[in-house]
Formats: sequence, structure tokens, C-alpha cells
Amino acid sequence: MPDAVIIGAGYAGMSAAALLSHAGRKVVVLEESERVGGRARSFRDEEGYLREYGAHSHRLAHKGIANEVFKRLGEEIDFLPESKDGKLIFRGRLWERPEGPIGFLKTPLLSIRARLVLLALFAKIKKTDPADWYHRTLLDFYRASFRNPEVEAFLPFLGMTIMCPDPNKVSAGEVIDFLKRVLAAGVGVGEPRGGSAGIFQTLSRHIDRGGEIHLRERAEKIIIENRRVTGVKTGRAIYPAPVVLFAAGLPLIADLLDQTLLPAAVEKYAKNIEHSSGLVIDFITNRPVTGIRSGILGVDVPIWARFQSSADPLFAPAGKYLSTWGIMLPWHFDGDASVVAGAEQKMKSVISAVFPDFLPAVVDERKMVATVMNGNVLTPAQSKPNRPDVECPGIEGLYFIGDTVRGDGCSGDISFSSAMKAADRILSDRKP
Ligand SMILES: Cc1cc2nc3c(=O)[nH]c(=O)nc-3n(C[C@H](O)[C@H](O)[C@H](O)COP(=O)(O)OP(=O)(O)OC[C@H]3O[C@@H](n4cnc5c(N)ncnc54)[C@H](O)[C@@H]3O)c2cc1C
Repeated sequence: MPDAVIIGAGYAGMSAAALLSHAGRKVVVLEESERVGGRARSFRDEEGYLREYGAHSHRLAHKGIANEVFKRLGEEIDFLPESKDGKLIFRGRLWERPEGPIGFLKTPLLSIRARLVLLALFAKIKKTDPADWYHRTLLDFYRASFRNPEVEAFLPFLGMTIMCPDPNKVSAGEVIDFLKRVLAAGVGVGEPRGGSAGIFQTLSRHIDRGGEIHLRERAEKIIIENRRVTGVKTGRAIYPAPVVLFAAGLPLIADLLDQTLLPAAVEKYAKNIEHSSGLVIDFITNRPVTGIRSGILGVDVPIWARFQSSADPLFAPAGKYLSTWGIMLPWHFDGDASVVAGAEQKMKSVISAVFPDFLPAVVDERKMVATVMNGNVLTPAQSKPNRPDVECPGIEGLYFIGDTVRGDGCSGDISFSSAMKAADRILSDRKP
């Protein structure tokens, strides 16, 4: 009998499985799709392109949360060398991305007066405890001390760092927490060499030592007897286990559990999670368009981009160049194709403005609507203190992990961090 069954093979499920395996526990990972990776899946296609579900970077690179999981496994993520040529798109132009407070003091992006206000805002962020601001928005935080229209127009950039550009919706505590970490670490993001594929290869290698990964096997029911987990049922088998980690995203939990067993607060939270969506386009050209290696972020348009091939030739076959651009779709996007077409038009008009030679050079493009950019957008209601804990109250042996629960950081970091938290508790509470 395995020590734990893990449902879902994204960042969270694979990290928890690798950590438990590394500690000598026997694990079984169940994944309904044909490959591991979840929303960060990454594989080489038959034409030789590295296909990523969006472009995935890791905040704070080697000092970040994803690398912490790797360190616990005795590994390091193989990050590309840091290149300090990040850019911002603001008012239809491309600007050097300022580095740290001094960079913001010098940037020609804003008037001198606005730069001084922005520096004062950073100083305030530095001495604020995020815990005091999780329940309020970034705009509330800013307006509590400042009034400057130029800086207010710049706030979406701060929200965009945690993928929620609307200052009137993003939790101030989440932004403060992230910016404090960046200021302390002195590094931005790290790009794993060869995309996310390498991350999952390493995690799989650790799991394979004593555990199993079952692809194309969908968990149908978490079996519970006397408020204690006893196993998982799939279409193929029943896997008895004293511990189950649900890593498939909280909105799906009600499909696998008898509703009367789920704590009311968790059920209510899971049902009401607000997601965000984005349109992502991979562009292929026959020649390099620019030598920019770092990411590009929009300030007044919620856009992000990376010329993958400039930084890492592994992304495309010889003679081809891949770049990935994304744009956030409107709040509560409901799948309307005309909204996607409008977003694509907006993205392309921004690209034309900042790289006039780019679109005429494109020989192929692949579009993808990523309906869930963030498992849950970091609004005050979905900020860290309000997300469910990794341990399910009232059901012995059931753990929730992933970017919809109470991990640290934002986006994928929540998945890595919640996996570490759950693994720590399982290893300390349950001796083999
Ligand atoms: C386009 C895009 C770009 C992004 N960029 C970044 C970035 O640069 N940095 C960052 O940190 N984050 C980024 N994110 C967010 C990041 O991808 C997610 O936060 C992270 O991948 C979530 O991992 P997870 O393990 O929590 O969940 P998921 O990746 O969603 O994994 C859940 C898994 O469970 C499986 N599953 C579901 N139901 C069942 C079932 N019943 N039985 C078995 N298996 C099941 C699913 O198939 C899936 O594989 C991005 C997201 C997108 C969409």
C-alpha cells in the first residue's frame, strides 16, 4: 500500500510527490491527462519546438520558492544567466525596465515629481507588514498616503508583477509581500533552461525512485471512512492509502468528495473562486527580431512577452525563432470569441508600435486562450489568509495543495510552497 496518493501532476502534485519520495515514502501520482505538468506542461513537438503552456518563469530565480523545493531534493534549477535587459511597455513605447529603487529614481518613464512619489511608495512598502493589508486593495494602500495621477497610472505595473493588474482589485498585502521579497532578494525572475520540461524531468526522476506516476488515470472519488481518508478510486482501480493530497485545484474537489463531508467554509470558498484568463500567442520567425533576453511587461496594457529564442536556443529548431506574447483578458472572461479577437488586435497593435519589423517577419503563430491564468486571482477575498489551509479540517489524512490554497507567494509559487507545507506536516506527523 502506498503511503500517499497524489491527485494531479502539476507543480504542486509533482513537488509533493518528489519531496515525500525523497524522504523514503511510497507515493502514487494519478494524472488524468497524457503528460505531467498541468498548467506548466512543456514538451518538444515533432517539429522540434518546445511547446509551453504559456511561458513560465520563476520569481526570485535561485532565491525563490520553486528552487527551495529543488534544494530540499539536493538539486538546483538550471536557470539561464540573469540578463539585466528587461523592458516595460508604457504609452506605446518600449522603455528600459528600472532596476531597484535607484533605477526608478533615474527612469525617464515618469516626471521627477512622480519618481519621488514612487520612491516614497516603495519606502512605505518596505516598512509595511503585509498582514495589515491583505484585506484591502493596492489602490486603498496607495491612496492612504499619496495622490499623484502619474504614479496612480503606474500602479497596474505593480499589480502585474503578481498577475493582477487592476489596482482596485488586487490585494495590497499580496503586492507588498511580493515586492518586499524582491527588494530583499535583489533578483527578479529566473527562466529555467529548456523551459518547464526540465523542472518536471527532475521531479519525475525523484518520484520514480520509489513511487509511480500513472498518466491518463482520472481520480473519481476520494474514499473516506469515519472521517478518515482510506484511499482513492479511479476508473481502473482502488488505491488504498492513509494520506491523499488533492492537487487538482480546489474548484474540482466537490466532484470527488461526498459534499456533506467537506467543511462548509472550504466548499463555499472552492465554489466561488475567481480566476483570470489570458490570450497567449507563440510567434515563429525565420530570423531573430531582437536580442532582448529578459521579459517585457506592460504598464498601461496588461501584456507580457519573452523572446524565448534570444535567451535560450533550445526553444526552437535551427533557423527558427520563437517568442511568446500574452495579454490578460477582461475580468470574468466568459469565452466570448469577439473578446479574444479584440485582445489579439490590441496585442498586435502594441507589438507593431514597439517592434515595427516583428509582425511582418512572422511565418507562423499559435494561439491559446489560457482560461486560468491564476488558480485564484489575488484579490483581498482570495489573499493568503483567506485561502483554505493545506490540511482539510475534519478529515484525517486529506491535504489540499496547489495555487488555490494557503501557500506563499503568487501563481506557481503558491503551488510549490503549499506542496512543501503539506509534505512537512505529513513527514512530521506520520512516521512510516
Ligand atoms: C499561460 C500561463 C502562464 C503562466 N505563467 C506563470 C509564470 O511565469 N510563473 C508562475 O509562477 N506561474 C505561472 N502561471 C501559473 C501556473 O501555471 C500555475 O499556478 C501552476 O501551474 C499551477 O500548478 P498546480 O499544480 O497547482 O495546478 P495544475 O497545474 O492545474 O495541475 C493540476 C493537475 O491535476 C490534473 N487533474 C485534474 N483533475 C484530475 C483528476 N480528477 N484526476 C487526476 N488528475 C486530475 C490536471 O490534469 C492537472 O495536470 C501561468 C499560468 C498560465 C495559464
